[in-house]
Amino acid sequence: MKKVNQLPKTIKLFNFAKKEVKLHGQFIIANMSRLSEIARNDNDNVDFDLSFHLENGKTPCVKGIINLKLVLDCQRCLDALEMDLKVPFNIAFIRHESQGDGLDKKYEIYQIGENEDLETIDLITDEILLSIPMAPSHEFACGIKVETNKESEENRKHPFDVLKNIKIADFGKE
Ligand SMILES: [Zn+2]
Repeated sequence: MKKVNQLPKTIKLFNFAKKEVKLHGQFIIANMSRLSEIARNDNDNVDFDLSFHLENGKTPCVKGIINLKLVLDCQRCLDALEMDLKVPFNIAFIRHESQGDGLDKKYEIYQIGENEDLETIDLITDEILLSIPMAPSHEFACGIKVETNKESEENRKHPFDVLKNIKIADFGKE
């Protein structure tokens, strides 16, 4: 096992896997362009641990975990939606589809081309984006909140008035 102190910008898959490299790193959300587009907390950190190994003597794999706090726009009320994300993953990098046969089901399969290099920041960004629901929203029924403005206060009076009129009408009939 080789401990790398400085976080490499590029992951050399076969090389890292052979040496069973372990990495601990940190990014700032602001530097992760695809994530900072949707995040409100640009100044927060993303922590991650990666450990590489070679499966069956030939397939580079990475096991990792990412920890971050992410603040997004709720897709229902558009208010801040805070999430504590823990993103564990196991990825096997294969060159040919047949190489995926016989691999443990726990692995996500990434097909790579002739170039084995991978940007560390891309790998981490991909895994975070995959873990976010398509339309993130608050667990409570936050949609109601949108309607708490002047208009809805007026609206709220209407059903009440209508109800009162019906009651009166009913009394009238009896
Ligand atoms: Zn909401």
